[in-house]
Order: sequence, then structure tokens, then C-alpha cells
Amino acid sequence: MKDRAPASYAKPLPVPDPDTQPFWDACARHELRVQRCTSCASFRWPPGPLCSHCRSWDFEWAKVDGTGKVYSYVIVHYSVVPAFATEMPYVVAQVTLDGTQEAVRMTTNIVEIPPDEVTVGMPVAVAFEDVTPEISLAKFRPTG
Ligand code: ZN
Repeated sequence: MKDRAPASYAKPLPVPDPDTQPFWDACARHELRVQRCTSCASFRWPPGPLCSHCRSWDFEWAKVDGTGKVYSYVIVHYSVVPAFATEMPYVVAQVTLDGTQEAVRMTTNIVEIPPDEVTVGMPVAVAFEDVTPEISLAKFRPTG
């Protein structure tokens, strides 16, 4: 997968921190993993050290299927970041991941579909984009 990453990437990159590094490591392997409390089994997003339901510090990085549904979205027609200029219009969406008790709503891009064809409730699946040797972005494309 790493040989597909472009030599340079002009857009802003995520900066992993101790809470998010396992997520980015999984994305680099083309796995979608989210935190699940091992005390009460609640999923949570974004990553963090503490369960908001039971206050436990214990958790695992659970692998999920990478399917979900568009919860909401916007179509971006103007960006203050010049690196995105060639991509407009593009879709920024929140996707509710299947198998997470609807607790994980991930902010992402919807790709491989004209922006005006995206709908709320549309089923989608993760489509990793390798942007550097270390970073793969979890974007989503329509299924079916
Ligand atoms: Zn918990």
C-alpha cells in the first residue's frame, strides 16, 4: 500500500498524538479501529483516555467493518486553504459507523460520487487514501 502514496502531499496532514496514534497506525494498515471501553463496552469517538459513560481508563481498539451511513454533510464550494482549490466542490460528511451502537460519528469526505448525489442515510464504506508513507486518510464511498 505504501508505494501508492504520492511523493509529496500539499494539504494539511493529521498530527497523531498519544490518544490518536493507534487510530492512524490502523489506517496505515487499511484497518478502521475505534476505541471501545472494556469495562462497559461503549464505543467512543473521538479517541480519548477515559470512558464518558463509566469513567473507566480501560479500553481496546476494536476493528470495525468500515461501513456506515451518511448522518449529515456539506458541499464545500470555497476553501481558505489553497491546496484544496483543485478539488472543489467536495463533500465533508459525518458518517455513523455500523456496529458502534451509533456512538461513532466520524467526520470525513465522501468520494467517488458527484457531490450533489450524496444523501443523508446513504450507505457508505471506508476507502483509504494513502497520502504519505505514514498517513492514510479514512474517506468513504457509496456502496451498492
Ligand atoms: Zn465505559
